[in-house]
Amino acid sequence: MKIFHIPAFTDNYIWAIQKDNHITVIDPGDSGVVIEVLKNNNLTLMDILITHHHYDHTGGITTLREMMEGKVYGPDNKSIEGIDVTLKETDLLTTLGYDFRCIETPGHTLDHISYYSELQNVLFCGDTLFSAGCGRLFEGTYSQMYKSLSKLSGLPDETSVYCTHEYTLSNLKFAQDQIEDIDIRNEIEDLIKKIEDGGISLPSTILKEKKINLFLGYKVPNDLQSLCPEDQFRELRIRKDSF
Ligand SMILES: [Zn+2]
Repeated sequence: MKIFHIPAFTDNYIWAIQKDNHITVIDPGDSGVVIEVLKNNNLTLMDILITHHHYDHTGGITTLREMMEGKVYGPDNKSIEGIDVTLKETDLLTTLGYDFRCIETPGHTLDHISYYSELQNVLFCGDTLFSAGCGRLFEGTYSQMYKSLSKLSGLPDETSVYCTHEYTLSNLKFAQDQIEDIDIRNEIEDLIKKIEDGGISLPSTILKEKKINLFLGYKVPNDLQSLCPEDQFRELRIRKDSF
């Protein structure tokens, strides 16, 4: 599966799946950057996949709808204009010949869903799981987000993880502040080099996240060891909010 990123706003990535001269985009918050890519590369827009209602993920829908061949998929939330097909847990969709399953991942928002292709080992997780971090809780509870992240960390290790924001370095710096860990230290060094060479931190993998993402609970700071996993998560999220 060919996947590339379209940078948007200051740190968003609009991910594009390409098959021949068609692309499907995930969370097009800005139509302008997508249209530019379509024009410059002679591509046609097939479908749009939406993870949640925030405007930096949905702002481009109405404009792009006018020029697309397929459908707009997204969560069952009437506040999002232009959704053709609403999805809930375990619903399937096919785009460009690839099958994706909807995984409900509330927490960042209540309507948040993620898209998983088992065959292609690919996950589009919006603002739920970030590399070395997770989304802020705007609407959901700590318990909801904890369960959502547990669902995602339960996917196969080799799953490629496509998040919507480039927050990785600041997430890693928070992690390093919480725990002394060789994987996290190495990842910071590698990523700084990568960024200097013009690269980006994504995609990650589930295996990598188990090593560097404290919010998945595989590595626990010393002072949180006595808490249960869900309380560890809550305490970390609270600490990150004011880091
Ligand atoms: Zn969001």
